[in-house]
Amino acid sequence: MSKLLIVGTVAFDAIETPFGKTDKILGGAATYIGLSASNYNVKSGIVSVVGGDFPEEYLTMLQNKGVSTEGVEVVKDGKTFFWSGKYHNDMNTRDTLATELNVLEHFNPVVPQDIKNTEIVMLGNLHPLVQNAVLEQLTEKPKLVVLDTMNFWMDIALSELKEVIKKVDVITINDEEARQLSGEYSLLVAAKKIQAMGPRYVVIKKGEHGAFLFHKEQAFFAPALPLEEVFDPTGAGDTFAGGFTGYLAKTEDVSFENMKNAVVHGSNLASFCVEKFGTERMQSLTESEINDRLSHFRELTQYEMNITK
Ligand code: AMP
Repeated sequence: MSKLLIVGTVAFDAIETPFGKTDKILGGAATYIGLSASNYNVKSGIVSVVGGDFPEEYLTMLQNKGVSTEGVEVVKDGKTFFWSGKYHNDMNTRDTLATELNVLEHFNPVVPQDIKNTEIVMLGNLHPLVQNAVLEQLTEKPKLVVLDTMNFWMDIALSELKEVIKKVDVITINDEEARQLSGEYSLLVAAKKIQAMGPRYVVIKKGEHGAFLFHKEQAFFAPALPLEEVFDPTGAGDTFAGGFTGYLAKTEDVSFENMKNAVVHGSNLASFCVEKFGTERMQSLTESEINDRLSHFRELTQYEMNITK
C-alpha cells in the first residue's frame, strides 16, 4: 500500500531575488513536496503532468529519491507549466510575473493503480478540479487528506476550490491566503471560518515568522528557524507540506498531538529549502543535517518533541 500520494505541479520556474536571478529551472509544488517527503523513506508517488520539453533527468532524480513518477503524464507535443516570480527586499513577499498553465490546462489526471489505495493524500498546489479528480479515483478512504492552495486559484476557481476544501481534513495556507479565503484579518477568526468550510485542521504559515496549527479550540505555534542566509524562498510552503505529510505517513499517527511534531518537521525542512536557489538544497540534503537542525530547533523552542523520523 502506498503511504503518500502527492498531487501538484511539476514545473519550470524563473526566479528573481535580491541575490540573483535564474533562468528556467526545476520547480513545481509536487517536486518540492516529493523531495521533502523523500526524507522519511515512505512509499510515495506523484500525480502530475509535464510537456515534451521537460528533461527526463529531473524525473529520474525524483525516482532516485524513492518518489514514483509513474503518475506523471508526459504530453510529448505540449509545454510544461511555467511560473516566474520576483521577491521583494524583505523576501517575505513576492510578485508573480507569469503563470503559464500550458499542459496543465487540459490535464485529466490518472492515478496509477498501485497508489489508488493510499494512507495520506497531499493535494499540492494546482487546479482544484484536478485535485478533486484525484480524490474521486481513490479506491479507499485515506487516513488523511491535506490540501495546499494559493491566491491564484482563489482568484480564478474559487467555487471549485471550495468544493475540494469541503472534502479535506487539513488545509495548509499562508496568512495572506487565509485572510483572502475567509475575509477575516484575525488569523484566529480566519482559522475558525476555514474549519467551518470543511477541514478539521488548519495550518497557517507565516513565512519567516513560523506556523500555526488550529483544531477546534486548540492552537499550536512553531517558530521558523532563524537563518543567517535566505537566498530563495520559492518552494518553502511546498517543502513544509512535504515534511508535514512525510512525517505523518512515517509515524502513522494523525492525531493533533503528532501534528505538532509534523509542523516542526515541515518547518525544519523548509528552513533548508530557502538556503539555495530552486530545489538545489533539497537535492543534496542529508539525514544528519536534518537531525542536527531538529535538535537545534528543540533547543530554540524548549519544546519536548520526539525527533525520531
Ligand atoms: P511556494 O513558494 O511554496 O508557494 O511554491 C512555489 C512553487 O509553486 C513553484 O515551484 C511554482 O512552480 C509553483 N506554482 C506557482 N504558482 C502555481 C500555481 N498557480 N499552481 C500550482 N503551482 C504553482
